[in-house]
Amino acid sequence: MPIIDDIYTALKGVIDPELGSDVVELGMIHDVRVDGSHADIDLALTIAECPQRGQLEEDTRRKARSVSGIETVEVHTTAMTSSQRSALMETARKKARERAAPTAIAPTTRVLAIASGKGGVGKSTTTVNLAAALSGAGRSVGILDADIWGFSIPRMLGTRDRITANDDRQLLPVMAQGLEIVSTGLIAESEETALMWRGLMLSKALEQFLTQVRWSALDYLLIDMPPGTGDVQMALSRMLPQAEMVVVTTPQRTAQKVAVRVADMARRSFMPIAGVVENMTSFVCDHGEEYALFGHGGGDALAEELEVPVLGRIPLDSSLVEGGDTGRPAAIHDPSGPAGSAFHALAARILEVVPPAEASCGVRIEELLESLPPRP
Ligand code: ADP
Repeated sequence: MPIIDDIYTALKGVIDPELGSDVVELGMIHDVRVDGSHADIDLALTIAECPQRGQLEEDTRRKARSVSGIETVEVHTTAMTSSQRSALMETARKKARERAAPTAIAPTTRVLAIASGKGGVGKSTTTVNLAAALSGAGRSVGILDADIWGFSIPRMLGTRDRITANDDRQLLPVMAQGLEIVSTGLIAESEETALMWRGLMLSKALEQFLTQVRWSALDYLLIDMPPGTGDVQMALSRMLPQAEMVVVTTPQRTAQKVAVRVADMARRSFMPIAGVVENMTSFVCDHGEEYALFGHGGGDALAEELEVPVLGRIPLDSSLVEGGDTGRPAAIHDPSGPAGSAFHALAARILEVVPPAEASCGVRIEELLESLPPRP
């Protein structure tokens, strides 16, 4: 059945962070059965009490649900037999040997693609402030600015530093306000010259940023996606199958309609939607009166249509405009203001919905590498 093949393809995006490979390749998916729009998946873990059990089950469920035609998923978890476990270790060792990783992103890094249907809804503002709030919660966070034509991350974080290369010709991210950042805006001389060579860069930039940058073993990598659907989204889901999407929209119904298209495209490339962020929800004046300047309900309607949660609502707040222009993200510089506190609440929700990878099942990749026979 083609839908079963689709589920297997989607499950290649479920990465066992310790073994550094996906659950299909590791032979952890023992069976997939589909009845109408319901899927049953047999997931075998190395050991039943694996601390990552909850996360692997949840990732499996979410990835399978991203397949069009599947509405409900039940994951049945078992523990491997010792012979199954040694076959898995064999595969993991083989993968470790082929360590010329296709991307330089650590398998433990959670990747969130921050996307929107159209420009101007606050996608970059959300990326920067969510990153800052996650970092404030003690997580290591990077931002890849994939909005190659309309980059704004360097300005929003107030950096004019340039990306440098080390002796191994790896690119080193710029550190700004505790975040690792990479953007075409940090390569070009100025915003104007960047525009001149954008045609040349566009197709290759994302690939280079994923393969040639020496990112740390980040907890979260946030990718500021270009608005709309297109090549970058396809390339991302191909190169980073573990990526999940956060869709930013405004309360306006028109914004919601274009956002649905972005989400559709994500689903077609098996990228799960973690949830919706409604930005510019309302304006609260000094007297506490709330004004819904951009209407009502866009975030809820979008979330309902996509069958995902609303992860956060960010009010209109002039500190965001000011902070964006002066490189002082509200989440850092005005954390208890209306927008700052909303971004911290959003980060707390992200930590629940897409929790950072935790160690360990006792088969850590380092031990695994140590156990490898020397190369001939
Ligand atoms: P996008 O990345 O979707 O194009 P931006 O993040 O660049 O959008 O935001 C567009 C403009 O709207 C910026 O000037 C930004 O400061 C402003 N903005 C975004 N979100 C808010 C908000 N909640 N309150 C006030 N201004 C906002």
